[in-house]
Amino acid sequence: MSDIATGRLPGTALGGGGGLDAFIAGLPKAELHVHHVGSASPRIVAELAARHPDSAVPTDPAALVDYFSFRDFAHFIQVYLSVVDLIRDAEDVRLLTYEVARDMARQNIRYAELTVTPYSSIRRGIPDQAFMEAIEDARKSAAAELGVTLRWCFDIPGEAGLAAAAETTRLALDLRPDGLVSFGLGGPEIGVPRPQFKPYFDQARAAGLHSVPHSGETTGPQTVWDALEVLGAERIGHGTSAAQDPRLLEYLAERRIALEVCPTSNIATRAVASLDEHPIGTMVAAGVLVTVNSDDPPMFGTDLNTEYAVAARLLGLDPAGVAALARNAVEASFMEPADKRALAGEIDTYTTNWGG
Ligand SMILES: [Zn+2]
Repeated sequence: MSDIATGRLPGTALGGGGGLDAFIAGLPKAELHVHHVGSASPRIVAELAARHPDSAVPTDPAALVDYFSFRDFAHFIQVYLSVVDLIRDAEDVRLLTYEVARDMARQNIRYAELTVTPYSSIRRGIPDQAFMEAIEDARKSAAAELGVTLRWCFDIPGEAGLAAAAETTRLALDLRPDGLVSFGLGGPEIGVPRPQFKPYFDQARAAGLHSVPHSGETTGPQTVWDALEVLGAERIGHGTSAAQDPRLLEYLAERRIALEVCPTSNIATRAVASLDEHPIGTMVAAGVLVTVNSDDPPMFGTDLNTEYAVAARLLGLDPAGVAALARNAVEASFMEPADKRALAGEIDTYTTNWGG
């Protein structure tokens, strides 16, 4: 890790091409920033739509590809909400969760912390206990049948305000499912100041949950400072604007507080104007623990393997450099130490065999 601490990933070279894509596809990976409903691929949405024929969502996967091409951000929100509307009972929740794990297994994602927003589903009428049983049932099946370890981050939908924060805290602490490891905050940042959520994060942290709010995605570095100083953030969702504040980058680097970077998402939401302007290079050069993630992959026309390829291009990485990024995610995860060592070992073995 020393080479990362000095701000340079090992194996920096003009890589690329099909060889690197094949390396990425087979690389064992962990994902730390990916949303539950936002991971519903056209295949999964077609299955859900077939369960609810009265919905306006097409049931044919080919038609869904068109349905998922967004005219603008408002259209994206509209489509996202129509998918949320398909999650109506516990079986929908179980199906969605298990099928998301299946899409992960295909990409050799071995471990994922999935951001779940229980408030949205439970407010729509799914009983809270049934919701928890559905995600836990899917988690156990995914581990046994697909080899994918899932953990949960319960997040507050920030736009729904303090009532949603109180309810999310109740669900996390009173009904705490075994897979729950962390507590988050999503939704828009503009007009939704982070500090107002302090009492809820205090309670969650006191109960042993890790703090992982989104911050600095669409607002400046002060929001990241707020997340760190007020909400006790142990990782930062996005943190894109941290690159504008050298003192903040230094703070993150010194404390090994990881950024969950989601390049394609940042372009799709216009948080960053173009991939070539993405600040991931500045973050890495400052020695920050950078992880690469997919956020809402089918919604943004991407997946984790594509995000690794994008990061490899932006950072000029060869296979060894890409493997270092994958190890960053293992380090920054909330896995048990023995599980971290095991997955890091798999990454190293895979990389060594690829070279030899
Ligand atoms: Zn997110």
